[in-house]
Amino acid sequence: MLYIVSTTGLCNLCCRYCGGSISEEVMPHEVQYDIEKLARLVGDDPDATVAFYGGEPLLRIPLISEMMEKLPAKRFVVQTNGTPLDELPQELLCRFDAILVSLDGRRHVTDTNRGEGVYDRVVANVEKIRPIFGGDLIARMAVSEECGIYEDVMHLFSLDFDHVHWQLNAIWASDDSWTDFGKWIYESYNPGITRLKELWLGEMKKGKILGIVPFQGIVRRMFFGGEGVPCGAGSTSFAVATDGRILACPICGEYEWNRIGELGKETVQSLRGRVGINEPCRSCDVYAICGGRCLFANREGHWKQEQFDLVCMTVRHLAREMRDAKKRIDELLKAGTITREQLDYPQFNNTTEIIP
Ligand code: SF4
Ligand code: SF4
Repeated sequence: MLYIVSTTGLCNLCCRYCGGSISEEVMPHEVQYDIEKLARLVGDDPDATVAFYGGEPLLRIPLISEMMEKLPAKRFVVQTNGTPLDELPQELLCRFDAILVSLDGRRHVTDTNRGEGVYDRVVANVEKIRPIFGGDLIARMAVSEECGIYEDVMHLFSLDFDHVHWQLNAIWASDDSWTDFGKWIYESYNPGITRLKELWLGEMKKGKILGIVPFQGIVRRMFFGGEGVPCGAGSTSFAVATDGRILACPICGEYEWNRIGELGKETVQSLRGRVGINEPCRSCDVYAICGGRCLFANREGHWKQEQFDLVCMTVRHLAREMRDAKKRIDELLKAGTITREQLDYPQFNNTTEIIP
């Protein structure tokens, strides 16, 4: 199981699609529970991954250090905006299995959304930790209208990330944050996905799997199985708020449906399956691949139906491309160019939600 632990609701940035710190009423700025309660929950699970989250989790490095001492997790992950990465002591840095750094791609794309100078600061920190950190370094993009998916993903690979993952700035943001979402999908995003897929398969013909997480996660499901929402919210992933509430999804602590328990009162077994994906996803023809994409989006009708349908068009296009890719991957497997083991990523839920 994945336990997403918020260390604070505070953030030192104020990104366009997010708005910065979470209000104290939704997520208190300091952890208020006894860490031993969390240690008991995690300790009951022999396959536990703890991922630090926020706000900006690295604003509370001493707390993270204490938790890494006390929580008997098999793996540790952190999702950070990257600006405080240089403050993380080397001995802590090296204990992480995966570090996800928020960067939206090229300088102008990142700075438009995250603030002037953020790109340079984060890239300098990534360059600083790369020679020291031997784990999985993942770039995490929030994709907006400024983004050219092909160009920005390729740019992030040029910065020495092992993997690149992205989420569309859709549904959680207000729909007026796009000038013309449909036009962007048909003229920019979907063609960019096709181009990326061709490049991905081209690399595979040389025996190399480029770390494009949405492609890898979908193909993994095709070869190794898996069901339900790929992020695992409410089934294999639980978020622990700073006040000890246990949530299915970490981003929306204010919704009652999302509150599934309280630290100290739950076991891993009691938490599972308290909240799940509703229609229209369960009877959708691409549900086996998409899994409903995002529990929050499925539950909260923040966008009009026609806008929701546009997001689904991106999923359908991606699913089509990956079905096509699978045929060619089968041939490469048969020819021995790649092995099945190479397709097994992510091997554990590392907080990449797979479907953008
Ligand atoms: S494509 Fe859309 S409707 Fe279908 S499962 Fe995914 S999110 Fe749900
Ligand atoms: S994909 Fe949606 S439900 Fe899953 S963690 Fe992200 S926001 Fe929450």
